[in-house]
Amino acid sequence: MNFGPDYVRAIAPYQGGKPISEVAREFGLDEATIVKLASNENPLGLPDSARQAMMTALTELARYPDSNGFDLKGAISKKFGVPTDWITLGNGSNDILELAARSLVTAGQSVVYAEYSFAVYPLATQAVGARHIVVPAKNFGHDLQAMRAAITAETRLVFVANPNNPTGSFIKGEDIHAFIASVPESVVVVLDEAYTEYLSAAHRYDSLCWVSEFPNLIVSRSFSKAYGLAGLRVGFGIAQPGLTDLMNRLRQPFNVNSLAQAAAIAALNDETYLEKSAVLNAEGYQQLTAAFDQMGIEYLPSFGNFVLFRAGTEDGAGARVNVALLKKGIIVRPVGNYGLPQWLRVSIGLPDENAAFLTALKLVLS
Ligand SMILES: *Cc1c(COP(=O)(O)O)cnc(C)c1O
Repeated sequence: MNFGPDYVRAIAPYQGGKPISEVAREFGLDEATIVKLASNENPLGLPDSARQAMMTALTELARYPDSNGFDLKGAISKKFGVPTDWITLGNGSNDILELAARSLVTAGQSVVYAEYSFAVYPLATQAVGARHIVVPAKNFGHDLQAMRAAITAETRLVFVANPNNPTGSFIKGEDIHAFIASVPESVVVVLDEAYTEYLSAAHRYDSLCWVSEFPNLIVSRSFSKAYGLAGLRVGFGIAQPGLTDLMNRLRQPFNVNSLAQAAAIAALNDETYLEKSAVLNAEGYQQLTAAFDQMGIEYLPSFGNFVLFRAGTEDGAGARVNVALLKKGIIVRPVGNYGLPQWLRVSIGLPDENAAFLTALKLVLS
């Protein structure tokens, strides 16, 4: 007996970064000595402002959360200058990506995304039984011209990650704008900006102001990376009321819990933490890439809080070096499931975490 539709049985489950406790058990290591640079989390840890907001919110935990997230939407509206009826809150921005697929696409239709882009795009596509149109990458990044050309009459959704994970590639704002303008009105573009807070001033662009221009655009943002709240699961989507209303019909009524809402409001207004995160990340990027240059290790320029590097030239290189690093208590992310079996992705950590990773890597490769 086979339960469920074929397209559900065909889903390859998401492979996350290994938890510290699991690596400690598997390799007989002390948890305290393990360095996890596998899930692009913020190495500064939870912002104090968010911790305090959650302590206050604890007293109300016997009650259901605010289903409409009134205060959090208010804070997002104020910070980004968007009306509250443009905002969809999500259980992580992952929720927004899935809501977009579930509310817009059905079996027999198609979704376009780039090779080597975020692993949730194939999952969200497969979950609704839609056809995948995977557009070959150009220099490990999105080839927007080819993505435009790949759209067919059956296409309902396009995912664009900027910066992209796991490659770290970045597309200029004007090129994305031109792409969205070129897409048929019947096709919705999800612009996934989980790492946008790490962009330098020179690379910033204002996608939220494009939302008034394009009724078929959803911009997705996350509290998991620069805001330091990955464990709480909060993200949001910005789109015109038409799309926002549609996603609101499908979301779980209480998809963002009370602690997450309180913490997100605090983190949103914690400019000091956000700036500190960006500075730390830029310094860590220099630290890692300078060492890679010195060691003759190939890596891709990254605009996120992680770097993709080539572990070796044989196809098992990523897996081999990954296991050797795990034995030394360093957790990075293998990307074989992305079709990159020679590569590993390392998240940018605190200076001493980066140093521990580099020391272990030198030993493993020598
Ligand atoms: C991390 C990530 C997300 C989602 O993170 P959430 O924790 O669900 O907000 C979305 N897109 C990309 C490209 C990511 O790397």
